[in-house]
Amino acid sequence: MNFELSEDQIMLRDLIRDFAQKEIAPKIGAFEDKHLFPKVIIDGLAKIGILGMTVPPELGGCRADYLSFILTLEELARVSAAVCVIVSVHVSLFCSSVLKFGSEQQQQKFLPPASRGEILGAFSLTEPGAGSDATNLKTKAVRSGDEYILNGTKAWVTNGGEADALIIIAQTGAETGAPKLSAFIVEKGFPGFKITKIEEKMGLHSSPTAMVALEDCRVPAGNRLGEEGRGAAIALAGLDGSRIGIAAQAVGLSQQALELAVSYAKQREAFGKKIAEFQALQFMIADIATLLDAGRLLTYRAADLCDRGQPFGKEAAMAKLFTSEAANKIAYLALQIHGGYGYSKEYAIERIYRDARVLSIYEGTSEIQRLVIARKLLKEL
Ligand SMILES: Cc1cc2nc3c(=O)[nH]c(=O)nc-3n(C[C@H](O)[C@H](O)[C@H](O)COP(=O)(O)OP(=O)(O)OC[C@H]3O[C@@H](n4cnc5c(N)ncnc54)[C@H](O)[C@@H]3O)c2cc1C
Repeated sequence: MNFELSEDQIMLRDLIRDFAQKEIAPKIGAFEDKHLFPKVIIDGLAKIGILGMTVPPELGGCRADYLSFILTLEELARVSAAVCVIVSVHVSLFCSSVLKFGSEQQQQKFLPPASRGEILGAFSLTEPGAGSDATNLKTKAVRSGDEYILNGTKAWVTNGGEADALIIIAQTGAETGAPKLSAFIVEKGFPGFKITKIEEKMGLHSSPTAMVALEDCRVPAGNRLGEEGRGAAIALAGLDGSRIGIAAQAVGLSQQALELAVSYAKQREAFGKKIAEFQALQFMIADIATLLDAGRLLTYRAADLCDRGQPFGKEAAMAKLFTSEAANKIAYLALQIHGGYGYSKEYAIERIYRDARVLSIYEGTSEIQRLVIARKLLKEL
């Protein structure tokens, strides 16, 4: 069993770490404060090829192995969980789904500009009345000649307000009494497509999350992604890969929490000592580091299985479940080590604590990850 990264993976990780420290860390605070999409940062990431990391060179990307992409997300999350999720959704939910299920025409149309950062992608499954229960979607797509007419409301769309193209999952065939889910690439200029709300969230302030209205939205039949009725499979395949990305986000955020906690504990004094000398705090630091390491190993294992073409759905769910729950504990402990200052916006741990909370909710809640894991185990054993 080999736990070492390859030389190329180490080089890439170090390059992204350096880029994140120099180009993202000093700038992101202003976007967070104003709740603005960090376009200049995403453009910078496009320039160094990050937005096309799952796309092959013939379609304009610089395809790397999935573990390299996961290392990239981890490094981004160390400085900004918001930047990390913007990239994760664009690359692993939008680009990867178009690559896997798109026609040659769709790949040629969307992937080169998406890899260069000229267009931004989003992925929209959730609706106001259906999140975990994605079988209960109400958005309908009805075929009319060479088009589909979409009607419905999609909720909680990461990148939604900024995206040029969104994969939208809707119900087809309702009129025949045999409804099934289908996937469509909806472009922002299509008539009947409207952003109706940007959510005010607890965290991830520089990753705007949108509500989308589809009112007789006309989508060319050529923009249907995959066959009619394949929408559930497309969504689930996208989420399997993307969940490893959320796990990497949790690992990166937790790493930053650990470093901040250690650095604070080494300089803060109480009762005539550095607080790092108190065993109670040393135990917290040890717990943080152990949770972090275990989560990182689960995450890399899932990515490695994906790279080796092995089934990885259960392992991705395990990684997402463990790291997202761990990140919440880690953020709690790291803030505790900061005492009152941890509760102040002047300290980075305050943002980490808020950003961690969503990890066990989006791309399938912890309860849903447990269902995925248990269902697979009950079939396997
Ligand atoms: C910041 C943010 C960004 C997001 N981005 C996107 C995006 O880009 N695209 C997208 O499609 N969605 C996105 N989402 C939506 C997210 O995936 C959903 O919020 C999530 O799947 C949960 O759905 P829900 O909010 O409807 O909760 P519900 O499904 O209503 O769940 C409520 C509670 O019930 C539990 N529950 C539900 N069913 C079961 C069950 N069978 N067994 C046990 N417990 C159960 C849940 O675990 C949860 O605790 C985003 C959400 C947030 C907060």
